[in-house]
Amino acid sequence: MDDLDAVIVGAGPAGLASAASMRALGLKTIILEKAGAVGSVWRRHYDRLHLHTDRGHSGLPGLAMPQTYARYPSRAQFVEYLEDYATRLDLRPVFNANVLAVRRNGRRWQIDAGQNSASAPIVVVATGWADFPYRPTWPGLDSFQGDIVHSSAYRNPDNYAGKRVLVVGFGNSGGEIALDLANAKINVALSVRGSVQILPRDLLGIPILTWAIAQRYLPARVSDFINAPVIRLALGSIEKLGLRRAAKGPRRMIEEDGRVPLLDIGTVAKIRDGSIEVRDAIERFTPDGVDFTVSGAETFDSVILATGFRADLRGLLPDAGGVLDDHGKPLATGQVTNEPGLYFCGHIASPTGQLREIGLEAKCIAKLAKSYLQSEEGLSDARMTK
Ligand SMILES: Cc1cc2nc3c(=O)[nH]c(=O)nc-3n(C[C@H](O)[C@H](O)[C@H](O)COP(=O)(O)OP(=O)(O)OC[C@H]3O[C@@H](n4cnc5c(N)ncnc54)[C@H](O)[C@@H]3O)c2cc1C
Repeated sequence: MDDLDAVIVGAGPAGLASAASMRALGLKTIILEKAGAVGSVWRRHYDRLHLHTDRGHSGLPGLAMPQTYARYPSRAQFVEYLEDYATRLDLRPVFNANVLAVRRNGRRWQIDAGQNSASAPIVVVATGWADFPYRPTWPGLDSFQGDIVHSSAYRNPDNYAGKRVLVVGFGNSGGEIALDLANAKINVALSVRGSVQILPRDLLGIPILTWAIAQRYLPARVSDFINAPVIRLALGSIEKLGLRRAAKGPRRMIEEDGRVPLLDIGTVAKIRDGSIEVRDAIERFTPDGVDFTVSGAETFDSVILATGFRADLRGLLPDAGGVLDDHGKPLATGQVTNEPGLYFCGHIASPTGQLREIGLEAKCIAKLAKSYLQSEEGLSDARMTK
């Protein structure tokens, strides 16, 4: 494996797209994946999950999603697509290859993965953030007698029959899990800490992503300003539902704070008809429930933390300088980093869809990697002729 151009860590959408884009430019790549199959994270997501972004804008470079799929493909369809993608583009990831560390070794990167260790001048870290569920803590948490899981461990409402459940967090996972529970007639409340933004998944019959892409060259403030009345009309008053609309519009929220608004697929209607109750922030846990900051104490049997993910890559990249922030999050994704030959793919929150952005990043990384290799070759040729 000495003649490799690039090692890609992870066989999720970002790793597969990176490998395909590099191969298309003639680079010799290998993908190391710790799980036993491609798209391992999507195999574990909750049962009812469908893409929130439409099929036409969620395919990866080189292979569109089949026309036979629904406008918003199911989780199973997306997994099938990723499998098909790897097969049709002949990507052949090495499975059960857990990358423990990536270190610079002269002009190459040494990828420590036990018996699957490899080295190459280019490395692409496409490890996603699923390994880093964020679990905030509250006073009294340890005293709570009920069960608490992170949203990444939630599968379906089966375990919650007859229980009173609190879902914490108003992101897409929180909104959809609360909806899933409400549809199963489970007594559910949703704790919403601050002000929020909500977008309908479709506007005037067109996917919201299509609108966002059409407006991508407008300044965020301008597109938020233009869209506000139409979105208000589509969703009705959210203030009447006990929610506070954020002063910052949806696009600024994503671009400035990395927070993705709720793409509504029915949660708002369930709040409106009372099947999902809205509560404010949690002040503390009690043995049989939680004490909310404004509305006071209530009993709950189960709590689901839809509190997101926070990738920390400091363990994976122990020596890399100037590429991660203080919390281990990449400073740049889909572009050059402070370390020549090291790239990150997929570490983004994008107003125009993360899968779409992953595809764009992968193509950009492939071009950057190719010109980096050419400049390295030029350097070594120059050294040889001296
Ligand atoms: C519930 C949910 C729904 C989403 N829905 C959408 C949507 O509808 N549209 C959209 O555009 N985006 C969506 N996203 C966001 C994003 O597109 C997905 O999270 C996507 O899977 C990210 O791809 P990825 O390849 O970066 O990461 P992942 O899919 O997480 O893949 C990373 C891969 O790297 C592997 N890996 C990690 N560490 C190592 C290691 N040390 N060694 C070897 N392998 C490793 C993992 O096993 C995994 O296979 C959603 C996210 C979530 C959580």
